[in-house]
Amino acid sequence: MPIRDFYASLAPLLDSLDIAICLFDAQDRTVSWNATFLKFFPEHAGHVYSGEPYAENLRRFYTARLTGAECGELERYVTDGLHRHRHQSRPFAFVHRGRRLTVSSSRMPGGDRLRVWRAVADSVPLPAAALPNGGGFPIDLLESLADGATIVDESDRIVAANAAFRSLYDVPPDETVVGLTLVEVVERAWSRASLPSENAVAAMRDNIRFVGAPFELELPGDRWRRVIAQRQQQGAYVSHSDITPLKQALLELSQIAVTDPLTGLLNRRSFETTLEETCRRARRTGTPLSLMLLDIDRFKTVNDNHGHAAGDACLRRIGGFIDAATRRRTDHAARLGGDEFVILLADTDPGSALAIAETIRANCEAEPWASLTPSLPAITLSIGLCSVPAAGEVSSSQLLQKADAMLYRAKHCGRNQVQACLMPDRTGGVVA
Ligand code: GH3
Ligand code: MG
Repeated sequence: MPIRDFYASLAPLLDSLDIAICLFDAQDRTVSWNATFLKFFPEHAGHVYSGEPYAENLRRFYTARLTGAECGELERYVTDGLHRHRHQSRPFAFVHRGRRLTVSSSRMPGGDRLRVWRAVADSVPLPAAALPNGGGFPIDLLESLADGATIVDESDRIVAANAAFRSLYDVPPDETVVGLTLVEVVERAWSRASLPSENAVAAMRDNIRFVGAPFELELPGDRWRRVIAQRQQQGAYVSHSDITPLKQALLELSQIAVTDPLTGLLNRRSFETTLEETCRRARRTGTPLSLMLLDIDRFKTVNDNHGHAAGDACLRRIGGFIDAATRRRTDHAARLGGDEFVILLADTDPGSALAIAETIRANCEAEPWASLTPSLPAITLSIGLCSVPAAGEVSSSQLLQKADAMLYRAKHCGRNQVQACLMPDRTGGVVA
């Protein structure tokens, strides 16, 4: 029996135990679900369909939950929810529509992901000894933990905290944290640094509701903490660790992954992703878009006559001209490889794009290249530019193709010039 048929036959059986089940494929698309799933999450009834991206499911989930200012955080919550979905390795609990649910999730053979929810009793009678503030819990034990640790009550207020916790959150010796929530402790850390806490707090406000699911929170000074709560009968034990070095290493790795090491511009791979996203956005918003390809003229002779190291120094300097001319947040510049560069200018009218291309070309021509390597002759650039005035239907491959044709024309017409065209209906001409 194919494995998905097996899950389908399991669904009614789990209904009989009041257990919800939903299967997702390796691309996070919904595959199948049972009746209990719709009972726990009635917002999906009549909407969920086979093939629906999980992000859509999360949007409905949050639309049913969020009120007031939190509505503005919908997309952030959806992103965090997707992260929890993809990386879940242990059960966690949360409250939805008045029901406390525990969810487990596991990657199945073949790449599907199975999620299973069970309703749990809201509060189980507690043995007195287990009450966090009832004297039974060995609070002294907190001090023997290397990580930060807190005990919180049912309304997430701290009942006890160890010294490591106080140090992780910059709590001064004369201040108590008992009675505060973690959100308040984090707000105080930001206000002590005289910085606004809204972003950090908005990022944690929802995560904190999924008890058992680890999450990361930010403190001033690019410091990061990883928090995980373990629910007890009433309240939870929460551990806090310093993951700043790990976050820094990940940031460095992700920067290496998107950067061309010689020039510091984007590399080809990350540019391709940016190009696709930018084209999509331009189509949606109808804003203008320009793409130019830049290629060094007769660069092979520079390498042949002055050596590869001199060639590299030229590439770096030209990368600097390109970087200096593309400083807006919506400008993206990359080295595609060899002596070829690309610039994508979102939300820029064709005239301004042409002016930027001409500035880079002129700066390159005017550079005193002999100051870089004695006897180096003038180095020039050929540039092919394609602009879409009001984006309408623009595809990345058309933009690249047209810009490449313009670059070819610039080379053919004598190099050291910009050739530009408008898409879709106008033909190109020599511009500079
Ligand atoms: P054209 O005007 O037609 O573009 O002539 P060209 O010599 O620039 O053309 P071609 O594409 O044939 O040569 C590109 C040269 O760029 C080949 C190689 O010597 C040089 N090159 C490619 N990658 C690097 C690099 O990483 N460092 C250095 N120093 N040179 C490189
Ligand atoms: Mg070249």
